Amino acid sequence: MTEKYLVVQLDEREKTIAKLKASLYALSIDEMVKQSVNDMQGIVPTITCSYCNGQTTVTRKKPKQHTEIVCGKEQIIQIINYPQNYCDVCNAEYDDMDVSIHLKKLIKFEILKSIRLEQPLPEELDFEELLKM
Ligand SMILES: [Zn+2]
Repeated sequence: MTEKYLVVQLDEREKTIAKLKASLYALSIDEMVKQSVNDMQGIVPTITCSYCNGQTTVTRKKPKQHTEIVCGKEQIIQIINYPQNYCDVCNAEYDDMDVSIHLKKLIKFEILKSIRLEQPLPEELDFEELLKM
């Protein structure tokens, strides 16, 4: 279940640049990648609404409700700062399937951490905090 390696395809020049930069800042490649992921700021792309077919779908941040069954009991977790795709015209909301799959897995890590540390299960998680390594 736990993959130790995440493979990235780079050509020789790109690999040399990565190694040079890591050396320059006295970081291992692993540390540099983790720092880069933490520092990365992107823009969630807008998508075409499948109901009204216009390029009207924008991203807004609103809480997302996530339900997880823990030890046979339903646990509702509010995910705050979640960038939801939302259509301004017909009010439809969209979830990117890949993002949802990864988010689900990340939430499970948080639940397992709470159980392991014998802390109460989370009722609210900050999406921005979840993305930090
Ligand atoms: Zn629409």
